[in-house]
Amino acid sequence: MRTQRQVVDYSLQRRAVLRDVKNGRIGTLEVCDASPYLRNAATFHGEPTDERCPICRRDNLTLVHYVYGDELKQSAGQARKLAELPVLAMTLREFQVFVVEVCRSCAWNHLIERFVLGRDGLSTEEMLHTDVMVSSGGGGSHRTGQSSHSGEGRR
Ligand SMILES: [Zn+2]
Repeated sequence: MRTQRQVVDYSLQRRAVLRDVKNGRIGTLEVCDASPYLRNAATFHGEPTDERCPICRRDNLTLVHYVYGDELKQSAGQARKLAELPVLAMTLREFQVFVVEVCRSCAWNHLIERFVLGRDGLSTEEMLHTDVMVSSGGGGSHRTGQSSHSGEGRR
């Protein structure tokens, strides 16, 4: 996604957990603990993958995208479909996305990635081509300066 930034990858932690499971240092019950909410989110908002579950190998993993941020108001903390994210990214200035992989068979789950999306990640030039413009002024405690983006745009 175009405005994706501040990507944090959790694959090392994931690998460490899987290694400990293999060694028997962590029981599978401890890592296969997806809550009913997470499993529901996987069913209704999840993104299917071709990757087999590393624990049970019975089912493919499903990715769930959780969104967080003040601008989301009451929908903060909800799971969103992947297809909805670019739309949100063009509407909001900044929000966090947490990507969790879930196995719907054994309830294995792990955070795999987190990143920031939103219009603040667009260059000034791209901003001008965006229809949804935030009206300047009009009371807001949000910071106003956009100077940090100058010179970022490619021509
Ligand atoms: Zn599984």
